[in-house]
Amino acid sequence: MNYNVSAHSWKRTHYTMEITPDLDGKEVTLTGWIKEIRDLGGIKFLLLRDKDGIVQITVPRDEVDRQIIEQVDKLQRQDCVSIRGTVRRMDKAPRGVEVTPKSIIILNTAKQPLPLDITGKTPADIDVRLDARILDLIRDEAQAIFRIRHVTLEAIREFFSKNGFIEIHTPKIIATATEGGANLFPVAYFEREAFLAQSPQLYKEQLVIDFEKVYEIGPTFRAEKSHTRRHLTEFISVDIEEAFATAEDVMSVAEQLLQHVCRTVNEKCRRELDILKYRVETPSIPFKRLTYDEVINELRENGIKISWGEDIPTVAYRTLGKLHPYFYFIIDWPTSLKPFYIKPRDGKPEISEGFDLMWHWIEIASGGTRVHNKDLLIKRLKEQNLNPESFKYHLQVFDYGMPPHAGWAIGLERLVMMLTGIRNIREVVLFPRDRFRLTP
Ligand code: ATP
Repeated sequence: MNYNVSAHSWKRTHYTMEITPDLDGKEVTLTGWIKEIRDLGGIKFLLLRDKDGIVQITVPRDEVDRQIIEQVDKLQRQDCVSIRGTVRRMDKAPRGVEVTPKSIIILNTAKQPLPLDITGKTPADIDVRLDARILDLIRDEAQAIFRIRHVTLEAIREFFSKNGFIEIHTPKIIATATEGGANLFPVAYFEREAFLAQSPQLYKEQLVIDFEKVYEIGPTFRAEKSHTRRHLTEFISVDIEEAFATAEDVMSVAEQLLQHVCRTVNEKCRRELDILKYRVETPSIPFKRLTYDEVINELRENGIKISWGEDIPTVAYRTLGKLHPYFYFIIDWPTSLKPFYIKPRDGKPEISEGFDLMWHWIEIASGGTRVHNKDLLIKRLKEQNLNPESFKYHLQVFDYGMPPHAGWAIGLERLVMMLTGIRNIREVVLFPRDRFRLTP
């Protein structure tokens, strides 16, 4: 087959979703891929897919040229084509319109059989799907998820810009661990060892001296051994840090952001949410605030005993999620459970100014007021068995007029799970990375 066709012969005039009944009689050129083929004997229907959607190509055998029939009979799912044809209003066709071809250029063929049903009608196991992810992403549900993810990111950036935050990008190859070394991936960095950043925490804190209000949307790497439906080894973290702010101030930013994102997705992604048969209610604010003490008391009443100072295990979170099936903050955590940079409360240092933001039983974000006093920071590092010497460059910035500050990090994928109703985090990442998956 000759694929050597000049570009001007196949240039598209319209995207599929621009083909509407009012174009009846008009000649158009479409490009895309064959998604489905239905042969009724005297008539053949092709669904042509492009980035926006599909349009039906109708081939009545007694009305089109023999050469076209021969080409159409060769076509298979996922073949890449350019089709010139005439638009026809047709009530029975999807969206009330179809195109009858006058010429077809086959730009490339797909090897058959495909490893997956790209229509999604024959369900496949997630690992089979992830192994052929490029084909899997053609499914309507996958397209819906990634459009929602796109709109989510757009809404996040819009919100931060409007609220005076500047977007930053901090290094992802780093010399020292943010919070100790357990979850770090080492990388060979010429003659030295470096690490992949597990969080932009230290850099974003430092940058409040220069910009006051910063945000970053960037990759984060964690050598997570836990193989769960909500943990990946590479995920996107949405981080903020704000000078002259407290935990309460940045909790309010998180609430407003989530409200804005839910509202925007509900408005802009109706079609996608219909495909997923899911809709998250736009929350009213403020969200509920539960103290750590209230949480452990509530859990005790529900048969789960947690001693003060112990972390809350997943089973307990599941119970909590049933009691509070929406957004809520958990505040007043024991200082010993929070990282060194979270500020202990003045006059009651065993309680921290850290918080977690929950959605049902899943943690969406965590943050807090930070320590901005250098001596206290060194003390906190030592309490957590970290060596202040390893944090030399970070600590020196605290000599440059570090203001009081606060911030948080939201896991983008967990946010998208919440917005789409998807229960496995791998579904909301193009090429997920976990302990057992490093390809494709
Ligand atoms: P968890 O307790 O659920 O493992 P964490 O306490 O380690 O989370 P943080 O370090 O506070 O999480 O990270 C901030 C946010 O980043 C979390 O609230 C979550 O939304 C997201 N996040 C953390 N770890 C992962 C991961 N391995 N995969 C995907 N998202 C994550």
